[in-house]
Amino acid sequence: MNFALDIAQLQKSFGGTPAVRNLSLSVHPGEIFGLLGPNGAGKSTTINMISGVCRIDAGQVQVFGHDNCAERRITRRLVGVMHQEIVTDNFFTIDRALRIHAGYYGVPRDNAWRELLIERLGLGPHLHKSMNKLSGGLKRRFMVAKAMIHKPRLLILDEPTAGVDVELRRNLWDFVREINREGVTVLLTTHYLEEAEQMCGRIAIMNHGELIALEETARLLARI
Ligand code: ADP
Ligand code: ADP
Repeated sequence: MNFALDIAQLQKSFGGTPAVRNLSLSVHPGEIFGLLGPNGAGKSTTINMISGVCRIDAGQVQVFGHDNCAERRITRRLVGVMHQEIVTDNFFTIDRALRIHAGYYGVPRDNAWRELLIERLGLGPHLHKSMNKLSGGLKRRFMVAKAMIHKPRLLILDEPTAGVDVELRRNLWDFVREINREGVTVLLTTHYLEEAEQMCGRIAIMNHGELIALEETARLLARI
């Protein structure tokens, strides 16, 4: 069976300084997989290489058996990514921005999945507000909707709960569990060990660009 995500010997340097060194790991379909590590460990760089934002120096990324470079047109539809930085399309309303993103992926601008996402993320009452008027929490929820708008099979979340209040954090994790139950594989990074413990079946730990541990969550926690 294909892995949802299969990373092999991935390398990336910035100006001669390695950010990701020889990273190999695989995520099974249906998993919630946690990527942990201190600041600067290489987590975001790894995610940026999976999403195609950042060029790979060496190695390979496969998504459900498709090469992420050679078969980019296939893999971009299979993956949804929420990057760490809050990026919003400032002068658009949530409604308009979601329609534009649906358009990028060639999915219908109105469909039942879109309505469900809006409902689950509580965006309904805010659809016609422009981005620059949204609270931080609403921006996060919009970014999750945007990452999921084309119904990807793999959702990648980079620090989804950084700077988010307790209630929204709970909502976000409920959302992630729900789509996971429906079959979406999830890769997430977080600073909060207890969140990873509650959410993830397996955890990988990176440090200085290298993988230093990869285990089932319970076993890993028993060791530290
Ligand atoms: P993490 O997400 O684990 O905090 P990053 O992947 O953001 O780690 O960073 C890994 C290393 O790569 C850090 O030393 C960081 O300074 C460096 N780095 C990341 N992106 C860039 C970039 N665009 N240009 C130069 N250095 C970068
Ligand atoms: P250019 O040669 O125009 O600078 P690149 O060499 O960055 O472009 O990328 C060449 C092709 O490979 C592009 O189609 C790009 O989308 C794809 N690509 C580059 N890096 C990645 C990556 N990390 N994951 C997936 N696709 C990538």
